[in-house]
Formats: sequence, C-alpha cells, structure tokens
Amino acid sequence: MIDDGSSLTVEMEVEDSPAAAIAPREPPKIQRLEESVINRIAAGEVIQRPVSAVKELVENSLDADSSSISVVVMDGGLKLIQVSDDGHGIRREDLPILCERHTTSKLTKYEDLFSLSSMGFRGEALASMTYVAHVTVTSITKGQIHGYRVSYRDGVMEHEPKACAAVKGTQIMVENLFYNMIARRKTLQNSADDYGKIVDLLSRMAIHHNNVSFSCRKHGAVKADVHSVVSPSRLDSIRSVYGVSVAKNLMKVEVSSCDPSGCTFDMEGFISNSNYVAKKTILVLFINDRLVECSALKRAIEIVYAATLPKASKPFVYMSINLPREHVDINIHPTKKEVSLLNQEIIIEMIQSEVELKLRSANDTRTFQEQKVEYIQSTLTSSRSDPPVSPLLSGQKTQKVPVNKMVRTDSSDPAGRLHAFLQPKSHNLPDKVSSLSVVRSSVRQRRNPKETADLSSVQELIAGVDSCCHPGLLETVRNCTYVGMADDVFALVQYNTHLYLANVVNLSKELMYQQTLRRFAHFNAIQLSDPAPLSELILLALKEEDLDLGNENNDDLKERIAEMNTDLLKEKTEMLDEYFSINIDSNGNLSRLPVILDQYTPDMDRVPEFLLCLGNDVEWEDEKTCFQGVSAAIGNFYAMHPPLLPNPSGDGIQFYTKRSESSQDNTDLGGNVEMEENIDQDLLSDAENAWAQREWSIQHVLFPSMRLFLKPPAAMASNGTFVKVASLEKLYKIFERC
Ligand code: ADP
Ligand code: MG
Repeated sequence: MIDDGSSLTVEMEVEDSPAAAIAPREPPKIQRLEESVINRIAAGEVIQRPVSAVKELVENSLDADSSSISVVVMDGGLKLIQVSDDGHGIRREDLPILCERHTTSKLTKYEDLFSLSSMGFRGEALASMTYVAHVTVTSITKGQIHGYRVSYRDGVMEHEPKACAAVKGTQIMVENLFYNMIARRKTLQNSADDYGKIVDLLSRMAIHHNNVSFSCRKHGAVKADVHSVVSPSRLDSIRSVYGVSVAKNLMKVEVSSCDPSGCTFDMEGFISNSNYVAKKTILVLFINDRLVECSALKRAIEIVYAATLPKASKPFVYMSINLPREHVDINIHPTKKEVSLLNQEIIIEMIQSEVELKLRSANDTRTFQEQKVEYIQSTLTSSRSDPPVSPLLSGQKTQKVPVNKMVRTDSSDPAGRLHAFLQPKSHNLPDKVSSLSVVRSSVRQRRNPKETADLSSVQELIAGVDSCCHPGLLETVRNCTYVGMADDVFALVQYNTHLYLANVVNLSKELMYQQTLRRFAHFNAIQLSDPAPLSELILLALKEEDLDLGNENNDDLKERIAEMNTDLLKEKTEMLDEYFSINIDSNGNLSRLPVILDQYTPDMDRVPEFLLCLGNDVEWEDEKTCFQGVSAAIGNFYAMHPPLLPNPSGDGIQFYTKRSESSQDNTDLGGNVEMEENIDQDLLSDAENAWAQREWSIQHVLFPSMRLFLKPPAAMASNGTFVKVASLEKLYKIFERC
C-alpha cells in the first residue's frame, strides 16, 4: 500500500515538473511478426537445448517401432546430432510436408489426444528443428530398393528428395543447432557440455525400453558411452547401463490400485537398499511409457529414505507407472517433460507408503545389522554442507522435521547433557570382536530361533504377560487409530465410536518390556562408535539424582557408589551381552545396546539413569527376577518419555530465553526484537527436533508396533493408561437435544 502511494507521487512529480526531460511517449505501433520469427520463437521453446532435440528424435524412432537406435553427437550436440533407427521409415510422398509445423501421423482429431500411445502428437519437433538448425533426413520404407535423402530449412525442403542407398529405417541429422540464435548458442557454449545430459537421457530410455537396443557415442569415438542390448529382464538392462554396483543393490517394488470410482494405476519398479550410497538421487520415472519428471514424487521418496535409511538417503529409483490414458494430461509442457495426473496426491502417497514398507521390511528380514550411533562425530563436524542427518537418529524417523532442519547437538552444550559429556575415541579392536559376536548370535538365531528363548524363566515371564492381557484393551489397541498428541504424555486415539486418551509413556514402557522378553538373546545391535565409560556415566546419574533432591557435595561417596556399581555390572558383562546385547568392553565402556523396536533408537540422554538402575534395582540372584529386572530397566530406558529439554511449543519456550536485564525497559516493538535475539537458537532447534522426532516415532513406530505386539495388562484399564474421554453416540444425543 505504502509503496503504491509513493511511486504514484514520484510519477506525478515527473509529469508536473517543467524540468522533466522525458516527453510523454507515443504508444508503440503493434506489428504482425514475420512468420519465420514466430516459428523460430516457438521452435526455441520446443527445442530448448541439444538434449531436447535428442529426446524428440529418439521418441520418433520409438514411435516408428524401432528395435535399435543409435545416437552420435559432436560438440555437445551443437555441431551434430545424428539419430539412426531401424523403424518403419517415412514414405517418399510424406517427405515434402514432413517438417512443416503441425504435420503428424499420430493424431487426427482433438479426442485422439486422450487415447494416445505414441510419444509424439503435436507434429512440432521436426519442424522446430528446421527453424533453428539444418536438418537432413534419409529414410527407406519396407519393400523399397533405395531410400531418399532430403534437407530442410525453415519447415520446407531445400530440394527434391534424392534417391540414395539406405539401410532399414530412418536417419536424421541435425547440424549447427541454434546457428541463427546467437544468444542461445553462446549460453550453451559457455555452459557445461550437453553430452552428459544426452548420455543420461539415453541411459534412462534404455532401461525402460528394454526391448530396444540403444547406443550413444561421441562422433569419431570407437567406444559407446551407452550401450544396451535387448533383454527381457529389466534388472539386466539396469546392470548393463548403470553397472553392477547399482543393480546388485536394488529391490523390486510394486503397487496397484483399482478403484473404479477414482484412483486406478499400477506401478512397478526398483528401489535401492541400504547398501546403495550416492551423492544424488536418481529417479528414472516413466508414466505410460513416457519419460517424465515429477518433483513431488521425488521429494516424497527422498523423505522416506531420509527417515528410514539416513545413510543411504540418496536412492536410485526406477519406476514405471501406468494409468488409464484419460487420466493423464500429456499436453502441459512444451517439451512434454511434465505431465499432469488425475489423483496425483493419492498416487504419490500410495507409492510413498509402499516404498516405506519395503524399506522397513527389508530391514526386518536382515539377519543382523548394526546401527552405528556416532553422536560425538556429529558434534564435531557441524559444517552446514555435509549430510544434515544427525546420526544419533540412525535407523529411525522423521518425516515431521525436514532432514535439512535436523540440527546437531553442540558439544559445548550448556545444559550439561550426555553429548557434552562424552569424549570422542578412535575405533579399535573390541568393536570388531563385538561385531563378530553379533554375527555369531544371529547365525545361531537363524539355525534355531527357539534355542535360547527355551530358558524356562523367560518362557514363564512371557506366559505371565499373556495371562495378564486384558481382552477388551487388546481389541482396542489392535484397532485404534492414532489421532494426535493431546499433551506431552497423552495421545488421543479413536476406537470405533470412542475417543481415548492413552498414556504413551506407560504404553511404550510396557511394549519395550514385552519385546525385550520376546527378542531375548536375539537382538540386533546398536553399536556406539564411541564407547562411553560406565563409571562416569553412573556418576553423572548420581549427581543428577542428588540435584533433583536438592542435596549436593559428598562427591567421594558418589564416586564410591559409582565404582561399586561399575564393578557389579562388569561382573555381569557376559550375561548382559549374550542375553540382552548390552556390551561393556574390557575397559569398562558401554559399547553396545540392543534394538528393541526396529527403526527406533532410545534417547541417549537417559543412558546414565539406565545404568544406575541396572546397578541399583536389579535383583541378580534369582534368574527369573533378574531377567525381569533387566527387561524392566530396558523398558523404562527405551520408553518414549518426553525429551529432557522442555517442549518449546508451550510455556517451555521460556527455558530457551537467555535472561537479559536490558530487555525489560524496551518499548513493545523493540522488546520483541530483543526477545528474539535472546533465544538460544541452537538449543531451541535441538529441542524442536527432539520433540518432533518423538512424535514421529510415536505415530510411525510405537502405534504400528503396538497393534502387532502389545498385550496390554489388565492394570492398564484402571491405572489411567487408557481413559475414555468421549463417545460419539453420547455426543450425538447431546447435539440432537440442541
Ligand atoms: P510428432 O512426433 O509429434 O508426430 P514430429 O515432428 O516429431 O511430430 O514428427 C513428424 C512425423 O514424422 C511423425 O508423425 C512421423 O510420422 C514422422 N517421423 C519422424 N521421425 C520418424 C522416424 N524416425 N521414423 C519414422 N517416421 C518418423
Ligand atoms: Mg515426435
């Protein structure tokens, strides 16, 4: 508003001022553009750069039912693009109008647009090329003894077609591209060579059209840069084009939906697994056999990878989606690079969940996998450009927090949290030894999955869980829908027509306890890359406990208690390691923890408390009580407690404000500015991440696993874990009365 006003004043001043040098301008005359100029402008849109010409030519060859297509390129395509195929060729009598605009053999009426199976339909590509380059076509049709060659400029033949010798099919040469568009040619010459883009294009085409052989090489080069052979197996094509290292790390994905009233499609493809690590995502996407781009789908897939396989978060993905032709609008982009789909959001969402499922189940079926937790390294290498995933979260989360917003914790963290306490240590032998034992344990598990769980004490504990199970609650847990978090501890869930508040801390604690029993002696491992000294961790926990109680000093006593607990746990290392995958190395460092739920890493800030609890609260003498005690301690440690940092989305925000005297006597506006500056941004984003990740885990890890595994004990019906807050029937009655 203010801007408009001021610019108006300036204009008026200019007009009123006798000193104004600029006389009022005559309206310019509107002229009709010359036909050739119009065509050249249009051509520049269709053929934006050499690679777009190659794409059009190769698509024409595919439309001509070719089984072999070869491309030769000189000077990044600016000097020469030559595409030869063995397709059905072009008839002599069609040659005169071949390169006129809007001449096509693929479309006759508008309605045909919606039932096209060919790549081309607008009859613009060849014409466009003749406006911005010199085009020569050589072609022979079936049954002819010789072919014809003719050159074109600005849409018309330069001479009558000349008879010539020809091999089956068509060869099109495009020379001196953009010879008459100086600016375009200059920018292209300065920019990176298009040859790489052309190789990329043909690689993509080659893996989808695996019934056609493709080759691409630089003019004069002996060796082709893309060379694919016809193969019935898509995976073979991928192997021959992208290499063994890609092909060996791929998994098949498929999803289809046939909902006659709405969303009908099927997708099949290959996606990379956790061993495939690359710098850039490659998404090779075909929709109804058309090579297209779809940034929304790409983003959706990247999010899933970042959340489930942070270390392999730049996947290789090939997908072919087919849907009814009338559901795709192919005519929205001049180079047909993008298409628009009916029900795009639903389709993307379905594909996203399928990819997620596939990645998760691949993780589940692995025989062993170590999740490295490298928290210290993460604090040391906090340059903004490196992969922005906090390794602490490895193996889990977060859709809510975009990966690029995950912030590493600062090693000089004033809150004195665990990350500040632990010191980096180099990897050494014990790590290897311990991985060996993981391998051994998982091999043992494969051979005889029941072997160790046969311990009668563990079976009794599991039987105890089963017998305490409340059938009504079980039904509720199995079929409830997560609605959202009502506060820091309670989630709102719906079951049939009832709404419940469910205590996620209690629920997760119980679930972790039960899973510890069920996975007894068969845990995958979370490997701590920087083993942490037990005694110091326990000491830290003791100090925190005292701080809470308001006691202080007596450090000597605390140190002695810590030593005793450390010694006790050291005595139990073998048992803790074999049965619970809790490894304490010979130097008294904690080096490994068990995976209780896949995709979930506990809050490392709670390690000290956990160790203290193991030392203090477990009854070691009796086997059954001991296993129960350790499982309960694990349950408590892995439970989804609210993060230690206060929730910044409520009153907790005050915690992140640095106290400052001066901000008090500021005016309203100034005060606000001051406030913002006073917020500890690093700590705040740590907290925001921690809370968002917890919520993600609750929704995507806790609830799905609860539905599968939790046997809710009867006590939960009365101890406030489940509280019914509303039932729709009753609400209905109330509304009826209103
Ligand atoms: P479109 O592909 O949209 O029809 P083009 O300008 O790309 O328009 O091609 C015009 C016509 O030329 C096509 O419809 C096709 O009949 C013919 N044509 C082009 N390239 C080939 C080829 N390699 N083999 C056979 N026919 C071709
Ligand atoms: Mg075409």
